[in-house]
Amino acid sequence: MVRLVLFDIDGTLVHTGGAGVRAFARAFETEFGLRHGTERMRFAGRTDSGLVREFLTSHGVEATPENFRRFFDCYVFWLDHHLHELAGSACPGVGDWLAELAALPEPPLLGLLTGNIRLGAQIKLRHYGLWDPFVTGGYGDDHEDRNEIARIARARGNRRFGRELHGEEIIVIGDTPLDIACGRSIGARCLAVATGGAKLEELQAHQADWAVPDLTHLTPTEACR
Ligand SMILES: [Mg+2]
Repeated sequence: MVRLVLFDIDGTLVHTGGAGVRAFARAFETEFGLRHGTERMRFAGRTDSGLVREFLTSHGVEATPENFRRFFDCYVFWLDHHLHELAGSACPGVGDWLAELAALPEPPLLGLLTGNIRLGAQIKLRHYGLWDPFVTGGYGDDHEDRNEIARIARARGNRRFGRELHGEEIIVIGDTPLDIACGRSIGARCLAVATGGAKLEELQAHQADWAVPDLTHLTPTEACR
């Protein structure tokens, strides 16, 4: 039986209408005076800290802890600003899925497995009224490598249950092949949704346990048994 369900955020739970990407660009511009470069970056499935390192390094700025801190302090300000300015939304079926998960006879623990830093995740999900169900997880400030973030999320889940969770007791839900790969790396079952960074055929080719157009095509009861 599934005990832990880990959700990706962007393209899986919500679409921010580009607020995240725009906040990245504004933070690089206002804090570091760097105006160009984000338009060439691939954001889907990446980690915030990995993206910051790539951007700073490619502009000849040292990726020091101080520069990461400066960037993220500025980023969360712009993120909040742009979320209010742009029309984003929760992805199809997300609200019902979370409600049905909570209504299962033995509801699994819900967590996040995301490249977003924790505060960024909180700001995004709070904006859409989706933060409260998530009690654990792994974030972009835990590690730059998504597979390591998955390991950390799993370890936190283990600690909550006071035992080692088996792979089949964990579901990872995400919208890119990178999400499927990081779910696989911890032995979890993978549910891929084509609501974000990848087409359904691409997700099917990466052999998720389920690949669906969106969460209305699979019930939590079917996924968690
Ligand atoms: Mg995503």
